[in-house]
Amino acid sequence: MARVAVVGAGLGGLAAAARLGTLGHSVTVFEQAETIGGKLGFVSRDGFGFDTGPSLLTLPATYRDLFLKTGRPLEKVLDLQPVDPACHYRFGSSSGAALELDLPNVSTSRIAAAWDDALGPGAGADWNAFLQRAARIWDLTREPFLESPLQGLGTLLRLARPGDVRTVAPFTSLRQLGAKYLKHPAQRQFLDRYATYTGSDPRRAPAALATVPFVEQRFGAWYVPGGLRRLGEAVHARALERKVEVRTSARVTRVSTAGGRVDGVFVGDEFVPADVVVANADAAQVYDDLLAGDRSARAARRRAGRATPSLSGFVLLLALRGRTPGLRHHTVLFGDDYPTAYDAEFDAVFGTGPFAGAPRPVPDPTVYVSAPDDPALRPDDDHEALFVLVNAPRHSPDGGPAGVDWRAPGLAERYADDVLAVMARRGLDVRGRVLWREIRTPADLEAATLSRGGSIYGTSSNGPRAAFLRPANRGPVDGLFLVGGSAHPGGGLPLVALSAAIVADLVGPA
Ligand SMILES: Cc1cc2nc3c(=O)[nH]c(=O)nc-3n(C[C@H](O)[C@H](O)[C@H](O)COP(=O)(O)OP(=O)(O)OC[C@H]3O[C@@H](n4cnc5c(N)ncnc54)[C@H](O)[C@@H]3O)c2cc1C
Repeated sequence: MARVAVVGAGLGGLAAAARLGTLGHSVTVFEQAETIGGKLGFVSRDGFGFDTGPSLLTLPATYRDLFLKTGRPLEKVLDLQPVDPACHYRFGSSSGAALELDLPNVSTSRIAAAWDDALGPGAGADWNAFLQRAARIWDLTREPFLESPLQGLGTLLRLARPGDVRTVAPFTSLRQLGAKYLKHPAQRQFLDRYATYTGSDPRRAPAALATVPFVEQRFGAWYVPGGLRRLGEAVHARALERKVEVRTSARVTRVSTAGGRVDGVFVGDEFVPADVVVANADAAQVYDDLLAGDRSARAARRRAGRATPSLSGFVLLLALRGRTPGLRHHTVLFGDDYPTAYDAEFDAVFGTGPFAGAPRPVPDPTVYVSAPDDPALRPDDDHEALFVLVNAPRHSPDGGPAGVDWRAPGLAERYADDVLAVMARRGLDVRGRVLWREIRTPADLEAATLSRGGSIYGTSSNGPRAAFLRPANRGPVDGLFLVGGSAHPGGGLPLVALSAAIVADLVGPA
């Protein structure tokens, strides 16, 4: 039996703790915040409730596996509900009326028919052809790239046949792959947006991200009544059942090493001995701060430094009087003039193109709105709670190429007004119904979870080498493992669960 210290009670840390507890280890989780959950946060006020992070669960099989391997199955502890339509999309059109699409959940034939209805005959067939390619990429990459520890280029070499490499097209961007299959600009824009699920720019993210919409449409879009935070609570409860100790308001300040392997962690000034340390904190923090001065972390630090950090998000929580007729669970409001305006959005976020070295809040952003029709999230049926999210550059107190100073006086309030005005222009004007609003900037996300600059996913998938630059699950020091969205295989609830499974396998049974 090993003494395991887990740094962070995000979903990755809790899932790893539950698995390691089941394997017979003595596990303690240290969480710097007052509550568990990390980015899977929740705000409740005046009868309104808001998930402040994830609002969409995909690939629930990853959590089915977690619950099954650690005790009672998922279905016994959580009520997962499919979301149908999966999402409502509004595409801007500079020449005429906006196009609208209600994307059905899971059914390939209904999805194709919805594309034909929205964009004209042939759009459904184009999408199906694209999905067939995405399915082949999924079959080839799922096991070596997502379910196994990364082995550098060796992982790529596991794609044995040259035809397999051509299918995955490691040097093709998601944007380029879309252009091969999809004629309608709205469909290309729809595909582009999936790059943001890994915090990336579709012009630089690899074609392999075609698997993201494939997974969503094959395995469904899901919700947990009461909010997705319930998933975090359930994983927390499972960890406790497996005799894991969880200490909140306990910040780890250093991972201690002796003779080239970990021997414990410092929680503030308190030394806690450990044989194994599982870091759920952002990998950048692990390398730069928790292992500060440790020479063995140098190479890992350098490698991670070569990757582009992931984008962040600007969030509005809106408590509204009245209900919006016809509002779907998920809505995406795109801007006009694809690809020009969408390119400008990513240039603003990453400080590229015309904004080289000077990222800025996106003037005319794509707006995502989540409004679950869930009585648990509103005081009564005459009110509603809206979560609004737009892509945003990271926080940097000095501004400059690294990000935007989101704490600059007045910026957040002004930008919140701008976002509400953008929504109004695109047909969702809620400004006269706001009882109150809360703003979460990238600076707030950084303060709450210690993720660098408020990056949502650690490093992005920008560039063909990005997957190989992502921090590996086996850390640079013996006995140290990395779990969660900033490590392999990446961010988002399903991948975080996979990283916990990989780490538990690497540590092995007691
Ligand atoms: C606005 C937003 C929207 C999102 N939408 C979706 C979505 O719809 N679907 C989806 O699948 N994903 C979504 N995500 C991504 C998803 O939330 C994350 O990928 C996932 O929750 C990350 O979990 P994690 O365990 O890796 O990290 P985190 O949740 O960041 O957890 C890390 C934990 O470690 C703690 N910690 C850090 N440093 C220390 C330290 N030194 N000592 C002790 N504790 C420490 C932090 O406080 C935190 O609790 C979204 C994220 C955000 C922010």
